Amino acid sequence: MIRSVKSFDLKHKRILIRVDFNVPMENEIVMDDFRIRSAIPTIKFCLSAGASVILMSHLGRPKGKVVPELSLIPVGEKLAELMEMPIKFSDDCVSEDATNVSFGLHPGEIHLLENLRFHDGETENSIEFSSKLAKHGQIYINDAFGTAHRAHASNTGVTRYFTHKGIGFLVDKELQYLEKVIQNPKSPLVLVLGGAKIASKLGLIQKFIEEADTILIGGGMAFTFLKARGVPVGGSLVDDKMIETAKRILRSARNQKVELVFPDDVTIAQEISESALQSVSQINKIPDDQMGLDIGPDTTLKFAEIIKNAGTVIWNGPMGVFETPGYEKGSLGVAQALAELHENEGIAVVGGGDTAAAVEQFDLSNEMSHVSTGGGASLELLSGNKLPAIAALES
Ligand code: AMP
Repeated sequence: MIRSVKSFDLKHKRILIRVDFNVPMENEIVMDDFRIRSAIPTIKFCLSAGASVILMSHLGRPKGKVVPELSLIPVGEKLAELMEMPIKFSDDCVSEDATNVSFGLHPGEIHLLENLRFHDGETENSIEFSSKLAKHGQIYINDAFGTAHRAHASNTGVTRYFTHKGIGFLVDKELQYLEKVIQNPKSPLVLVLGGAKIASKLGLIQKFIEEADTILIGGGMAFTFLKARGVPVGGSLVDDKMIETAKRILRSARNQKVELVFPDDVTIAQEISESALQSVSQINKIPDDQMGLDIGPDTTLKFAEIIKNAGTVIWNGPMGVFETPGYEKGSLGVAQALAELHENEGIAVVGGGDTAAAVEQFDLSNEMSHVSTGGGASLELLSGNKLPAIAALES
């Protein structure tokens, strides 16, 4: 069983919380505070229960060295602004000074530790580093979903030192949607797949071939499948190493109830640029000097119809090069259909990474049942795999 932060007596306790403050930064300025805001419900819950809070996170990939540009100081400032209170900060997460600051905390106070990855011990999951981190708190809470698929000191090693350990509200919601809902989905169950790479989504495809009613395949990965079926794809993105895998997937889908749906039309251009001349082509008529960069208008309507009539939809991977204006329409149509599904009591779940970024770009994040905060972690969970950081909290 995994305990929620709500299940502990937090009064006068020091709560060590692993948060995900790995936010985009430019010139030491936080460019997007979504992850910081997302951590606030768990932090506030602990503080109002009479606890003090010690927060730890990584930022970027400093590879065991102190990299001043990857300091969490700007994150602490942002958090102080959002919480409207001062935050204590220690510039070495495992120094004696830092531990002493934690020991001296009063109920209602917050102590933020400097970037965990300034020490190699974090990603190496070192026992010594884990035991030093553990000293900060009396209860351990993991609310960092984005790193839960990696076994690091702050989310796995550290747990062995705590009898009282559990998850925060953010991880709770992720598990609720990505694990429990998938175990018992409202049918029909539809998976929408896109993006460039098939390899990272193989586990997901294999699981949903057995469980979904329909899989819609758009984005760049559609062309690898189409080529595997012998359909000419012009100059579109194809992962030639995955052709045999794509053929195997197509064969195994034939033996299941699942229906695989591919695009009928695509938006094409000679290059990925806003100014390139765009046109719409039938899927099997893409000229050799053109590439498919988004699903076409007919396909967008067809996908949207299937999504709106589903019970549960999981979406992972954009339908086109949504970052470049002109090639975002397919992803927008799919996002709007998911929003409509959610409004009509269906379940619309968006996997993390680029898909979450697309939904955010369309300002539709709040219209979904759930937008995952973790790319790799959500792929692992949806594929039916255990996350090491969550397994470490089982009792
Ligand atoms: P992935 O990490 O595999 O989900 O891939 C996401 C990336 O796929 C995004 O950056 C999109 O721009 C890109 N993408 C989506 N559709 C296409 C396409 N038709 N051709 C090339 N890249 C694409």
